[in-house]
Amino acid sequence: MAKDLARLVGPEGFSTDPEDLLVYRHDAIAYFAQGDPEAVVLPTDTAQAAAVMAYASQNHIPLTPRGAGSGLSGGCTPVQGGIVLDTKRLKGIQEINRGNLTAKAQAGVVLADFQQAVEAQGFFYPPDPQSKSVCTLGGNVATRAGGPRAVKYGTTGNYVLGLEAVLPNGELIRTGSACVKHSAGYDLTHLLTGSEGTLALITQATLRLLPKPPATCTALAVCPSMEMAARIVSETIANGVVPSMLELLTTASLAVFNKFVSPPLPEEGEACLLMEFDGTAQEALRQAQEMAKACRDMGAMDVRVVSQPEEAAVYWMVRSRLYPLVVSRFKRLVTEDVTVPRDRIPEFAAKVQRIAEETGLSMGLTGHAGDGNMHPTIRMDEISDELQQRADQGMAKVIKAGLALGGVISGEHGVGVHKAQFLELELGQEQIKLMQRIKKAFDPKGIMNPGKLWPPEMEG
Ligand SMILES: Cc1cc2nc3c(=O)[nH]c(=O)nc-3n(C[C@H](O)[C@H](O)[C@H](O)COP(=O)(O)OP(=O)(O)OC[C@H]3O[C@@H](n4cnc5c(N)ncnc54)[C@H](O)[C@@H]3O)c2cc1C
Repeated sequence: MAKDLARLVGPEGFSTDPEDLLVYRHDAIAYFAQGDPEAVVLPTDTAQAAAVMAYASQNHIPLTPRGAGSGLSGGCTPVQGGIVLDTKRLKGIQEINRGNLTAKAQAGVVLADFQQAVEAQGFFYPPDPQSKSVCTLGGNVATRAGGPRAVKYGTTGNYVLGLEAVLPNGELIRTGSACVKHSAGYDLTHLLTGSEGTLALITQATLRLLPKPPATCTALAVCPSMEMAARIVSETIANGVVPSMLELLTTASLAVFNKFVSPPLPEEGEACLLMEFDGTAQEALRQAQEMAKACRDMGAMDVRVVSQPEEAAVYWMVRSRLYPLVVSRFKRLVTEDVTVPRDRIPEFAAKVQRIAEETGLSMGLTGHAGDGNMHPTIRMDEISDELQQRADQGMAKVIKAGLALGGVISGEHGVGVHKAQFLELELGQEQIKLMQRIKKAFDPKGIMNPGKLWPPEMEG
């Protein structure tokens, strides 16, 4: 294989060195290694990527697309070996179109670099997975990633207008357009969006931009109980207040949070809501003040409108790094991204608490509460097979509790391998069979990221 890859991408464009390949065995869940790739390929352009895919197809070699490997569901791991196609070198921003409010960028562009480039021109690209300093646009599109801003602005899927993609046989397609409206044929753009690398390799995306809101204002509310915090979130939404971000932090994460912020937040409550409003400076401040009043009226213990933008920036910076900061305090975290309708958040929070009591597991619940996307997390102070098994069983109960409330198994990370066993519970057999027929139409040889989305025993 090495000789063939050298011919297709040059000696710098691939590796079969076992040391280089080690990192490709897992994603950001480093304790869960899955599959050994035989080679990693790093194309510099779409033509090279297409040539590698045609080669993989002709030789029936599994091929797994990979962006930054920051996923949390095992989506980019080569569970059946073969080639990992790393998009790191596809990093061009080809166009920022002022007159059309769109941009074209390659799959390997890091999200934070893209946001910086468009903001430098006065535009705004809202999707903000908290891994933005490393994750790629291709990975974001492939997982339909979202973040705190989803409550007001939606997720990556709401910004994808068109895609350039390579089919598993090496053919190039261009879906969608740069038009705001597009009504011809099946919407392949949004079929590929969220397809987790199982249908095609995305090489370029045409993305919608917005004008940058002129100002933001942040507010904080510490709540005596998780139930109250959850209730404030659903009441807020019911009253038509739409923050640009609305995050829920638990006491355990507050303790970590407070190591980095000044003044610290009171830790005697069970939860803290961190909120941002945007618009003109006046509008943002008015919304924050109204929200602060509503939180006080509903019984929050300590409510603060943060007047200094620098102080607010620190809060949000620490929030965006909270997951790795919390991970570093424990031996292991098992975390998921169950999403429930926002009016069911209080019930979900209560169910998670009950499951924690019943199982004796240390469970926390943070999340992008404004959009119902919760991150139930099991914190492990020791590592053992027995505890891991209990944690997996506990998390299965949490996922099922979310489904019972009309929720979904994943709001942003995707299914990958970790949640494959739960897909049928959410979608049912018929939808999975339909998806399998769609997969066959794109990928008749089954080489694209095999072993993902549904468990192997469900393969048709
Ligand atoms: C600290 C931390 C915080 C996070 N916060 C969030 C968050 O707030 N919101 C959120 O949504 N996620 C979050 N994530 C998860 C993850 O960062 C996102 O899923 C992100 O979109 C993955 O991008 P990536 O480039 O790392 O993709 P990878 O992890 O490399 O791949 C993810 C999936 O996309 C596929 N893929 C990647 N590139 C392509 C391509 N070009 N064509 C086709 N398929 C492709 C892969 O095969 C895989 O199935 C977080 C992760 C970490 C570690």
